[in-house]
Amino acid sequence: MTTYSTDRLHQALKHFFGYDEFRLTQLPVIESILRGEDTLAIMPTGAGKSICYQLPAMLLPGITIVISPLIALMKDQVDALLANGIYGAFLNSSQSPEEQNRIINDAKQGNIKLLYIAPERIPANSETFFTFLRSLNPSLFAIDEAHCISSWGHDFRPEYLKLAVLKKQFPGVPVIALTASADKVTQKDIVEKLALQRPNIFISSFNRPNIHYFIRPKRNAFGHILEYIKKHKDDSGIIYALSRASTEDIAGRLHEAGIKAAYYHAGMDANERSRVQEAFQKDQYRVIVATIAFGMGIDKSNVRYVIHHDVSKNIEGYYQETGRAGRDGLKSDAILFYSAGDIIKLKSFTQIDANPQQSAISMKKLQLMQEFCEHEGCRRQYLMQYFGEPFPAYCSSCDYCLSALEEKDVTVDAQKLLSAIVRTGERYGAGYVIDFLRGSASEKINPAHKELKTYGIGKGLKKEEWQWMVQQLLYHKFIDKSEDQYVTLKVAEKGWRLLKGETELKLILKKEKEEVADEEELQYDKKLLGDLKGLRLDMAEREHVPAYAIVADNALIELATFLPRSFDELKHISGFGDYKISKYGASFLKVVKQYADEHEIPSRMHFKKPKKEKKAAANPGKAAKTSATATQKATLEMFMDGVSMAGIAAQRGLALTTIETHLSMFVGSGELDVTRIVPKHKLDVILKTIKSSGQVHALKPIKDLLSDEYSYGEIRMALEYYKANS
Ligand code: ADP
Ligand code: ZN
Repeated sequence: MTTYSTDRLHQALKHFFGYDEFRLTQLPVIESILRGEDTLAIMPTGAGKSICYQLPAMLLPGITIVISPLIALMKDQVDALLANGIYGAFLNSSQSPEEQNRIINDAKQGNIKLLYIAPERIPANSETFFTFLRSLNPSLFAIDEAHCISSWGHDFRPEYLKLAVLKKQFPGVPVIALTASADKVTQKDIVEKLALQRPNIFISSFNRPNIHYFIRPKRNAFGHILEYIKKHKDDSGIIYALSRASTEDIAGRLHEAGIKAAYYHAGMDANERSRVQEAFQKDQYRVIVATIAFGMGIDKSNVRYVIHHDVSKNIEGYYQETGRAGRDGLKSDAILFYSAGDIIKLKSFTQIDANPQQSAISMKKLQLMQEFCEHEGCRRQYLMQYFGEPFPAYCSSCDYCLSALEEKDVTVDAQKLLSAIVRTGERYGAGYVIDFLRGSASEKINPAHKELKTYGIGKGLKKEEWQWMVQQLLYHKFIDKSEDQYVTLKVAEKGWRLLKGETELKLILKKEKEEVADEEELQYDKKLLGDLKGLRLDMAEREHVPAYAIVADNALIELATFLPRSFDELKHISGFGDYKISKYGASFLKVVKQYADEHEIPSRMHFKKPKKEKKAAANPGKAAKTSATATQKATLEMFMDGVSMAGIAAQRGLALTTIETHLSMFVGSGELDVTRIVPKHKLDVILKTIKSSGQVHALKPIKDLLSDEYSYGEIRMALEYYKANS
């Protein structure tokens, strides 16, 4: 048996699929298979289960047989393989006998690397089927959606039971079973039913960090949905609604608003359903409005958002549906519009159920769904804990964590305050204690107190911050207020425990900075991205494949960000394996070159660091000037709409200097006329001063040379203008 080094496997991943890194447990899973061992891989939807068997299939001699229950997905998978120059094929009931025979012959001649077979293709007399398989001399069996073999699973398919004899028929051929189903009973069932021999089991985290979760109150849901879609008009999304009628209604209203939307539900005939689905996959529809019942048929890696117009029946369903967003790993949104009324409606459906035991379980699950929607805390933590995975209290990418709050341990400051109260004899009010803490020189402070160690230990916080802390400690009953003649503060029982370090105090505080969410966003030009998408759409239409089968969205974003100019550079763009480079490389490079030449921007490939160093490169100095982040653009848009800088700062909850910095960037890039902010006569004076001072790095020296009527903001704008034009 050949052994493969990690390097060799990375090379193969890059060569065949164009990816730089393995995700989650892909690498150990692949190594296990290549050692010839039975393997069970549990990974969440969208994590990349396919690569786990597709890569070994490319390295092993002969053919790999993939059993997969979803006919729609099969075609998709095979299209994706063909797009990478890999000969894959499928056999299922949608094909004519001639077509099936052609594929069987091709397989027998050893031309096919991966053959997908639907379980219903396994005849009742499975002996003939196994004889057929034996004639292909397979190297590997991959059982996709392996939970279908378990009656415990949520999607039991009796045909899967025919696979029970697979290991007996092919004792020497390794089997990999794959599923996104987490629960332990199902796992055990899969191993037993497939008779896996001492399998290696790999379980990946269920967290989907690129999906951001938002729960919104359901008020004018349609209006909010429309606004969101308009803001993301180049993106694809799915909207789930409870009833067929409401999918039609919502899709109709979106259509009227000029959005390319269609509905999809079980009441439509099969032809119409597959037409809608294909049009969506080819990006001819942007938005599909579907019933909750509709499910696995849609596999599209660049779904950027999933919106629940109505609440889901349970968290499993909700998580599976939201999981259809962001399969390409890019940031995506999951937004649910919640109303308690929807829960009541669902309860009435649930109770109709004839099976009382089952309906009790469904009720319980619905109740947890309600709890999740009403939860005051990190959404992601709730979800992860629901699936039995520990997770910290803040994820920074759900509505709760992104709102203006964060939890902070304030134990030390609280202890300072408490000990100041104790040291001054519990005889003073807040004003005195705070002056004492801050080391006030005032004569009102008792000279003896000025000798105490505690005097002045609270200089680090402002007066108002200490006042706020006093309020908090009173509220949480760490201190008491006695109101005899004067108000005095006393340490309460709970306060003593805090002082002794027996307990701690964490408070939810206002965040200092709001911009966290945008920091890691890549910067690229939207127009170029649009051109690249257009090119990709042309290619896709010519080849009759979905657009993302050509290359994924993140590959286009990387192209638009790093502007590769040669085939060598293109190799470092995610998703461009050797085959895709030779097939599409020249066309993409041409579009990039044209744009870069026109704007005189050199290749920025040197900013594309290996993954781990990316963070350091997040602020690439001058390059940042050529493209703006979302937050900067939002500022510009508001300013153009006539909102004053102070108004923007207030509305966005950002500091005025932040707004000034945003706008100065656009002054520097020429997108904003500087005289819209600095009147011409003042601009001239500032520019002269800058010139004569020779200062272009700091504002203060320039400010010092000017009279008071010139603000820092004006100087900042003028300086950017000066730098860009000198
Ligand atoms: P699932 O686990 O749901 O079967 P897929 O196998 O369909 O997921 O993979 C989801 C997407 O992730 C696909 O577009 C696939 O090409 C992509 N992908 C898989 N592995 C990697 C990787 N190591 N790096 C980048 N993208 C990957
Ligand atoms: Zn969170």
